[in-house]
Amino acid sequence: MQQHLIQCIFLASFMKICTGSDWCYESQHTCSSPCNGPEKWEHANKDCAGRAQSPINIVHRKTLPDERLTAFQFKNYQNSFGGLIKNNGHSVQVTLPHDAFVIGGDLEMPYKAVQFHLHWGNKGGPGSEHTIDGEQYPMELHIVHMKEKHSNLEDALKDPSGVAVLGFFYEESNRVNRKYDPIINALQSIRMTGTNTSLGTVSLEQLIPSQQNLTNYYRYRGSLTTPGCTESVIWTVFENPIPLSKEQLEVFSNLQFKDGKPMVATFRPVQPLNGRMVYRSGGAVVLASATLLVASIAMAMGLSQPN
Ligand SMILES: [Zn+2]
Repeated sequence: MQQHLIQCIFLASFMKICTGSDWCYESQHTCSSPCNGPEKWEHANKDCAGRAQSPINIVHRKTLPDERLTAFQFKNYQNSFGGLIKNNGHSVQVTLPHDAFVIGGDLEMPYKAVQFHLHWGNKGGPGSEHTIDGEQYPMELHIVHMKEKHSNLEDALKDPSGVAVLGFFYEESNRVNRKYDPIINALQSIRMTGTNTSLGTVSLEQLIPSQQNLTNYYRYRGSLTTPGCTESVIWTVFENPIPLSKEQLEVFSNLQFKDGKPMVATFRPVQPLNGRMVYRSGGAVVLASATLLVASIAMAMGLSQPN
């Protein structure tokens, strides 16, 4: 047993030298196929050991209401596109035409959509990257945007506020979400790493909750959740989840990592806040109820004061 362990440690250190910047998720790390799991991502890129990393656990009662966090305007989100969907060995990713963008939500300028990808668990089990009060959702969608002035993500990542990622949770529903048919159907053609297929006609709008259900969200400054872990991301995590049936969630687990093993648990563990603040939208409303609370406390105190 001990000899086996020593062998494993030897192999692991050997692989570290051999694979260089290669990285993997915790679910891929076994003794027989050692790779740099999340604890060792800093070997792939030192930024992964930074002090403003993502994802995080959002503790609702510790978030600060901020009235600048107004509703977003989603421009051209309704436009259909028929891009390629690809199994990149870590996730499924769809490259977007640059005509969709977001404004508002306290972003200093418009940010255009670049790509989206997902993070999921094992057969519909816990799989989101962000957690809310410790709760992990079955899946999370990341729509990656960059400032309009940048022409590629590489440049945008050099800008401390160059990238804005919109994160959406999924929840298991009793009903099949037909708006996801093009994506779910495409998955069977891209089971192997490196394969891609054309995505039927879809719009970003059909993949996310309706606009009136997107006014509640959290905001913080963080990083990419995969190596290089660059800390130039303005994160927006929406409260309202997207419904998918259990069967629809399970299909993602049929995809395969490079070694042919099921692509499951494709999430990075939550990272320390290190003093960062997390803000939440709806400040005005909360402020109004806080005023009411103060007023009622004052009244109660007034009433209970001895004469
Ligand atoms: Zn992501």
